[in-house]
Amino acid sequence: MKRCLQCGSTYDSVEWMCPACGASPAYVNGFVAFAPDLAAYNDGMEPDAHHGLDVTQDSSFWFRVRNRLITDLVRRYFPTAERVLEIGCGTGYVLQALRTALPQSCLSGSEIYANGLPYAARRLGPEVKLFQMDARDIPYATEFDLICAFDVLEHVAEDERVLHELYRALRPGGGVLLSVPQHQFLWSKSDEISLHKRRYRRGELESKCRKAKLHIIRSTSFVTTLLPLMLLQRRIWGRRKAYDADAELTLPLLLDQSLECILELERKILRAGVSFPLGGSRFVAARRQPRPVGRRRPSIEEHVQDGHVMLESSP
Ligand SMILES: [Zn+2]
Repeated sequence: MKRCLQCGSTYDSVEWMCPACGASPAYVNGFVAFAPDLAAYNDGMEPDAHHGLDVTQDSSFWFRVRNRLITDLVRRYFPTAERVLEIGCGTGYVLQALRTALPQSCLSGSEIYANGLPYAARRLGPEVKLFQMDARDIPYATEFDLICAFDVLEHVAEDERVLHELYRALRPGGGVLLSVPQHQFLWSKSDEISLHKRRYRRGELESKCRKAKLHIIRSTSFVTTLLPLMLLQRRIWGRRKAYDADAELTLPLLLDQSLECILELERKILRAGVSFPLGGSRFVAARRQPRPVGRRRPSIEEHVQDGHVMLESSP
């Protein structure tokens, strides 16, 4: 269902026009825009960063392996998701992976920077719905089977509010797949340049998800094998005055391919179900509980993962 950001009413319609108050969203660069005031400038990222991202994503081992890991996790935990939203879709690089993982699904992508959307539209074609949106105000309720946000929450001061919005936008039984940078001891100039509000402590994202009534179904670190290298790089080179954050993503080919081999091995271990406690990133999959049908016996998975089962009342 659509949700009016002006009056809060929900409605089913193809058109973006609230039947209760008549409000409809603006357009920026030809895209529906729910937060047009933030479409060019806000405190999350440089507005022209998408051009650089569009160029570097394909040539960086980190983005390539991350996309394969996302594909693994989506296939494992959300294989039947039909309505899927990626928040902070940037230039659409991850949406390509989501389309491979879920060819049957109806994909949407949102981005706070209207600048990123033309790149995404070029990559993905017209069948992926793209719009400009602030994740703190999502214009949907009980709409999606899966909402993804990869390396987005660390840019938002009110990350818990975003998680509550995700919960509301999910159908009962739907889930989220999230990634964030991890460990404050890795904080460096790279985080400052990327305008991160935080790196997450161990367990922080999981506990914020639980607070938003999302049940953790998988949580693991990623970039564990490269953690010593990352630490060295952040501690030593990251302190140089002329630190170039992009250099991390544009390595010499041989080095890029070597690091890809190492990270690929790690991805295969993660795919086998092993989870790591430490690493440069944290991946969390979590689910909004399905509507209870009569007296239901909790699944073994819920017992093991959560320790208890919460049955919520219908929204
Ligand atoms: Zn309204």
